[in-house]
Amino acid sequence: MSKLDTKLVHLGRVSATESLAVNPPLVRGSTTVFPNLSAFKASYQGTAFETPRYGRSGTSTTFEFQSMVAAISNTESCIATSCGLSACAAVLSAYAKDGAHIVVQNDVYGPTRSLVEKELKGDGVKVSFFASVQELQNLVNEQTKLIFIEIPTSLSMKMLDVAAIVNIAKQYDITVACDATWGTPMFFDAHGLGINIAIHAATKYINGHSDVMLGVITGRYSDLELTRRWCERHGAYAAPDSCWMALRGLRTLSVRMKRHEENALYVANWLQQQPQVKRVMFPALPSDPGYALFKAQFCGAAGPFTVELRSCNEAQYENFINALQLFGLGTSWGGFESLIMPAIAHHLRSQATLPDEGRLVRLHIGLEDKEELCADLHQAFFNL
Ligand SMILES: *Cc1c(COP(=O)(O)O)cnc(C)c1O
Repeated sequence: MSKLDTKLVHLGRVSATESLAVNPPLVRGSTTVFPNLSAFKASYQGTAFETPRYGRSGTSTTFEFQSMVAAISNTESCIATSCGLSACAAVLSAYAKDGAHIVVQNDVYGPTRSLVEKELKGDGVKVSFFASVQELQNLVNEQTKLIFIEIPTSLSMKMLDVAAIVNIAKQYDITVACDATWGTPMFFDAHGLGINIAIHAATKYINGHSDVMLGVITGRYSDLELTRRWCERHGAYAAPDSCWMALRGLRTLSVRMKRHEENALYVANWLQQQPQVKRVMFPALPSDPGYALFKAQFCGAAGPFTVELRSCNEAQYENFINALQLFGLGTSWGGFESLIMPAIAHHLRSQATLPDEGRLVRLHIGLEDKEELCADLHQAFFNL
């Protein structure tokens, strides 16, 4: 079994055998009850988050989900956490030890950036932000323990040259972690590109139905060692209920992503032809500056992208957003539904000089009929 579509259907069902059901049972639990002392002792030889020990590190439902995510990510192991942000926090915190230097891409997801600035900086931890590979090369040194990137970057949708970043990391034996939520393990082979630790907000496409908060961290055992210990000591936890839901969501990941891609490309191309639109920031478009890197590193495009509108005032902007019928006003994309979110230029740190009239919106293109999505945007554009 080597193809993603087959894995998505057949993996993560080991514990279903006993019930003769298709799906594995949802096992909730706090205490693990062992049959004898040697089994109790053996559980401490295993890897927490992969074998029953105590409810905090999961039940068979958690392990089914984690092994599926590891398998579709072409790597050895996976740790599930309560949400995407806690997965980012676990990795960053695990490396934020006294004397360590951590380097973070400028335009990472806002709450990740807040965590780094407000919680990790200080106490002997040095943090630097970078915008380009050249800046990164100039920043890293013997003390640098972690390079944290996100691709494409949140809102600014910038592509990064992963191979170049991995090369720089190798010079000083630095771990590279990447928030790969946008591409999912289906469209972005993080570990194949040399990234040590990949993080996904499983809240988004992995679950895919806007009804679960969940995070995952994937990588080889050796690469996850520090993070795994941090998770163990800090009580990082993912509810088996959430893992069960996400495992169910994963079965259709492939069909959903293909449709998100088809719809997003269609709507983005249509938007580029509209007089109200100044620029569509979407690396899957040949006009995007990140297109070559996108083609080289991704095998498909997800639904979120950013749109810069032509000059409009705040009232027009508000009326445009309020007039949309099919696009919900909300932030957490990755479900089946289309969304719009206002974005302001200062959210895009790498482009702090964007003129104020270029108001931005972040769209998530869902699974609706693509022509009806364009028609909805078309009628709302009359407000601009
Ligand atoms: C949504 C998101 C997160 C946070 O995930 P939650 O599950 O909402 O905590 C982290 N990174 C990226 C890129 C995201 O889009």
